[in-house]
Amino acid sequence: MTALADLVGSVGGGVGLGSSPYSSSSASSGGGPLGSHHAPGGGFRNPPEWRSCRDMSFSHFFSEALPDWDHSTAFPPLAAAPVPFPQLLAPTAPLQALFVGHATFFLQARGVNVLTDPFFSERPSPVSFIGPRRYSPPACTVAELPPVDAVLISHSHYDHLDRASVMALLRRAAAAGGAGPAWCVPLGVGALLARMGVPRDSIRELDWWQDTEVRARGGASTLRVTCVPAQHNSARTPWDRNTTLWCGFACSAVEAGAAGEPPSTFYFSGDTGYRAVERGSPPFSHGETTAPRCPAFKDIGARRGPFDLALLPIGAYSPRGFMSSFHASPSDAVEILADVRARAAVGMHWGALPLTDEPPMQPVEWLKEALQRKGGGTAPFVALRPGSLWPFAAPL
Ligand SMILES: [Zn+2]
Repeated sequence: MTALADLVGSVGGGVGLGSSPYSSSSASSGGGPLGSHHAPGGGFRNPPEWRSCRDMSFSHFFSEALPDWDHSTAFPPLAAAPVPFPQLLAPTAPLQALFVGHATFFLQARGVNVLTDPFFSERPSPVSFIGPRRYSPPACTVAELPPVDAVLISHSHYDHLDRASVMALLRRAAAAGGAGPAWCVPLGVGALLARMGVPRDSIRELDWWQDTEVRARGGASTLRVTCVPAQHNSARTPWDRNTTLWCGFACSAVEAGAAGEPPSTFYFSGDTGYRAVERGSPPFSHGETTAPRCPAFKDIGARRGPFDLALLPIGAYSPRGFMSSFHASPSDAVEILADVRARAAVGMHWGALPLTDEPPMQPVEWLKEALQRKGGGTAPFVALRPGSLWPFAAPL
């Protein structure tokens, strides 16, 4: 999210919304009444029983967040690796993931091509000349990627739902003359996509724990997509805070004819917090390790795990007293990796935008320190340059 969107989305409550016309017929409800993430007056909230989240009032924001805010915009660009395009055209692993930059990955899982939170623009903003400017460009353009079967969009913040990138994907699909990708989104985001011109029948709008199935081009492979909980918020204007849901995605890809082989599985967290840390609490401190944790991730691991790969946020966490409810730090992400039972993880949501005030390479250093402090009991968790292809690229 952007820092401004953080403020807009995290203070106060939600606004009422009607039922969505975009829910996919292939989506299956988890059954039972709506969960506690549906706010009583409409709109959405982090479940009040999650003690890991602390929504702030405006007075808290001005007394606690602003005094700690040292917003820098003079970051040097992170040098991108050359994208291995031949390997994208002929994948050599059952699951591979190209880090395009920020929260954008191009994943290839058993013949299904998936794009997460496509953000190829210079600024996360409704207009091209306002907002924080990207200091590291994306590793490639939409047009340079192989065809996309499924686009996963985790929430409405501008650095995750970018109109120019959506338009580029639509133009590309139209030029290819195909059906275009399936767009998997949480509740309320379907209307935003439809207003951008995305065909209604390609939108799969999901509540937490609803599934949908996407068939790849040619029909040989399928991807099961589950919308899963995240601790975050949403907003595109000061007037629509928390009117649309936020989520992560748990995915499982199966190739027809690959009988007996396990599916390739991955988890994309979107933006999420893990625990609310008190203002002034140093990293890796007792105050951090004893803070209540969000229970959603163990649930995701139990219900959809284990995963071959987790894509987890490691940046935009400072100042911690304000941001920790909504953005994971590297040490939070290491805990999430264990909770969801992933066999490997790649860090995201760092190195592209000056959203918060930590130095640009600090997420990488803190990730290494967090792993060291766990004493080798964790699955491999790496930070990659944009343009790198997991699992082949060397970590930073
Ligand atoms: Zn966000």
